[in-house]
Amino acid sequence: MREKSRKRILVTGGAGFLGSHLCDRLVERGDDVLCVDNFFTGSKSNVAHLLGKSNFELMRHDVTFPLYVEVDEIYNLACPASPVHYQHDPVQTTKTSVHGAINMLGLAKRCKAKILQASTSEVYGDPEVHPQPEEYWGRVNPIGIRSCYDEGKRCAETLFFDYHRQHQLRIKVVRIFNTYGPRMHPDDGRVVSNFIMQALQGKDITLYGDGGQTRSFCYVDDLIEAMLRMMDSPDDFTGPVNIGNPGEFSMRELAEQVVALTGTKSGIVNLPIPADDPRQRKPDLALARKMLDWSPTIPLREGLEKTIAYFAQLA
Ligand code: NAD
Ligand code: UDP
Ligand code: UDP
Repeated sequence: MREKSRKRILVTGGAGFLGSHLCDRLVERGDDVLCVDNFFTGSKSNVAHLLGKSNFELMRHDVTFPLYVEVDEIYNLACPASPVHYQHDPVQTTKTSVHGAINMLGLAKRCKAKILQASTSEVYGDPEVHPQPEEYWGRVNPIGIRSCYDEGKRCAETLFFDYHRQHQLRIKVVRIFNTYGPRMHPDDGRVVSNFIMQALQGKDITLYGDGGQTRSFCYVDDLIEAMLRMMDSPDDFTGPVNIGNPGEFSMRELAEQVVALTGTKSGIVNLPIPADDPRQRKPDLALARKMLDWSPTIPLREGLEKTIAYFAQLA
């Protein structure tokens, strides 16, 4: 029989990059973890090391379909996250965010479970306010090639807050800024994985546009710690709360760092900038510091070294 103190925790998208690290922490902590994934971008290999554990279970399931299980907490991470992946089947991306949120909220309502949504800095679009605080409503193109992801995530936030107001659900919304680390998909087209793979393989490093656009990169361990704190925060704190790293770097600076850390002979080439690519992005972390007593601890250089080591053993 299940020990009463053990929480039953559902992680959707649990076989993905962030989800698998979250499962690691929850399993280690002793909770009963149900990992649900349709393996669109995630893979069994990300959680293979957990399969023998008595408090871990893996289930192939697509969250756009209803799910009937008994759980105490839900982390809803299911959704492709890189532009290459989410633009592969944009209709399915919106369905995953919207139908997936409805199903997981319906499940949370029936089980009286607490539910956390992995939202994104993309809800701010190409922002006119810098850095971005949670009060900023964003500047998102509703009909562009990034919209399936951005608007899907915005609609999911709306659903979370309506279930909270209408059905008194205990909700938690985190807005995640660019996060990187081991188990990122090597072919997902995101800048960190692209640059590192290109450097390790001696291929040209592909800098889109003039490389002056900025991002703030958070190492995965910092991010997961903030997510766990958010889930455990008092019920009256719903968020949304930004999670990320305030260090802001241009893509040119990132390329140069990767070149220096890998010692590659790769050159840097400029390619056209994709449509609607945000010019700058940096989280305002005041709320996370105040409410979660959290700030990131791992600087870019250290995180890149760990990530390079991971990709090097894949290659
Ligand atoms: P990822 O692609 O590695 O993980 C997403 C997981 O969801 C994968 O395992 C995938 O197979 C699964 N999935 C996709 N559609 C599904 C469906 N319909 N049903 C069940 N499973 C499905 O990406 P990630 O970086 O780990 O992102 C995890 C979550 O965090 C996503 O919701 C993403 O939007 C959010 N997020 C990530 C970042 C980041 O920088 N990594 C930034 C902002 C938000
Ligand atoms: N749902 C689910 N698991 C559950 C309960 C509900 O997947 O344990 C799904 C179901 O598809 C439902 C949706 O969640 O349509 C929303 O549930 P809710 O109770 O809010 O609304 P309903 O559509 O049932 O009136
Ligand atoms: N980028 C780049 N070269 C690449 C991949 C991405 O210069 O090979 C740029 C991209 O144009 C964007 C930034 O890096 O300005 C971050 O891209 P990513 O897809 O990782 O994340 P997002 O745009 O969703 O923040």
